[in-house]
Amino acid sequence: MLSKENQMSQTFDVVVIGAGPAGYVAAIRAAQNGLKTACVDNWKNLDGKHAFGGTCLNAGCIPSKALLESSEMFHKAQHELAAHGIQVGNAMMNVAVMQARKSRIVQSLTGGIAALFKSNNVIGIRGTAKLLKNGRVEVTDFDAPDKKDTLETKHVILAAGSEPVELKVAPFDRRDIVDSWGALEFPTAPKRLGVIGGGVIGLELGSVWHRLGSQVTILEAMDNFLFMTDQQIAQTAAREFRKQGLDVRLGAKVTGADKGKSGISVHYEDRDGMHDIEVDKLIVAVGRRPATRNLLEEGTGVKRDPRGFIQVDKECRSGVKNVWAVGDCVRGPMLAHKGSEEGVMVADLIAGRVAEMNYAVIPSVIYTWPEIAWVGKTEEELKTQGVQYKAGTFPFTANGRAKAMEAPVGLVKMLADARSDEILGVHIVGPLASEMIAEAVTAMEFRASAEDLQRTIHAHPTLSEAMHEAALAVDKHAIHAINK
Ligand code: NAD
Repeated sequence: MLSKENQMSQTFDVVVIGAGPAGYVAAIRAAQNGLKTACVDNWKNLDGKHAFGGTCLNAGCIPSKALLESSEMFHKAQHELAAHGIQVGNAMMNVAVMQARKSRIVQSLTGGIAALFKSNNVIGIRGTAKLLKNGRVEVTDFDAPDKKDTLETKHVILAAGSEPVELKVAPFDRRDIVDSWGALEFPTAPKRLGVIGGGVIGLELGSVWHRLGSQVTILEAMDNFLFMTDQQIAQTAAREFRKQGLDVRLGAKVTGADKGKSGISVHYEDRDGMHDIEVDKLIVAVGRRPATRNLLEEGTGVKRDPRGFIQVDKECRSGVKNVWAVGDCVRGPMLAHKGSEEGVMVADLIAGRVAEMNYAVIPSVIYTWPEIAWVGKTEEELKTQGVQYKAGTFPFTANGRAKAMEAPVGLVKMLADARSDEILGVHIVGPLASEMIAEAVTAMEFRASAEDLQRTIHAHPTLSEAMHEAALAVDKHAIHAINK
């Protein structure tokens, strides 16, 4: 807990509740702005130990990317290296070594936050915080639950994050029916793996275990695959995933899951009637909800909506003086980078600086193979909103670098305003889409036109030439493809 010299008799300028990517970034920025800052966090790892970093670092983005990378390497060794003339014989995967590597990466990054707190003079406190109605923050000690302190502070930033949604029809048992965290910890690849929810987590973790040998069935309730994604991109991705052997079943509503001797029997209904599948492990990945249940004492005045999100305006003010909220516990996409930028904005506003957040230009990425990344409006959204637009696409089959990488799959699609030529959306399915999207984000942040990107020189041979060509295709000027 607090050391003697830092005890609650001290008044803070800012107390941040939660040290995920929204909270820890807010705390560091606030301290950099000269504000006396504490950050309280109660994340408990499976070994019972505390670590800063929240879901993203401990049980989300970082460990999943580590496993995605390892499993992709394994897949390449098995299926791709031969095309380069490299013979590796029978590639074997040692899952324990893969998991140990993942844990080392996580530990080095979570330890890094503690070090960043120290060097920025943020006081990191291990404990569970609650906002009291008198504006103070009560902290229950991480190691001694009967020990409580109260912190005085001028500002509070709520950054409590989110937790997996549990399904009544398939409750977690933390061994066979698991959430995304449990799915990162399997000691071996299950023979038959079921996934409820064909969203970001379902596709990423389904891909990891599929590459390591699991037979994967994904049950998605919606009729449209990746309904929030541009449908041309979603359909291209769906084709690739099915080619790889991922069994994605759409319009599938799960009605129950029974554990028996031979595994878990999952029941679902689609337009053809009732069906059952047998699996050895079941991942439930049907979304996340804000983790705000025990965060506020009765009478603080801070409002939560019916789903538990803390209500805030576009500057993340809760409506109660000097109480702010950022990240997954407020409206908007549940993305680490969105939370971090809200944290920076709030820390700057508290310090009296000018700050704002451009909610229209937040990139999204799905780290499957091929990767999917987008920013701005989809073609479906533009149609619904009656916006006149021009569309340009360019396939990676016509990109030299993608061919050299043995990855000529997918396309870049650019949407621009028909009159002003401003770029309204960019959608990619293909190799390293996660990195390529940054160019589109920068362009849109500067309100670039398609012509601006057409006249920007892109190095050759690179994947980013596909972005250049998609911009040219907006005006039917692509050089290396037939303009439709
Ligand atoms: P999600 O919202 O991406 O997907 C959940 C899917 O489950 C949806 O397609 C939904 O239609 C489906 N679904 C809901 N109830 C169902 C039911 N009863 N049966 C079958 N399908 C059902 O949620 P997620 O994949 O759980 O991810 C949670 C959050 O974490 C998301 O907001 C996501 O953006 C974030 N996340 C982001 C990344 C990334 O940026 N790469 C990675 C992991 C998680």
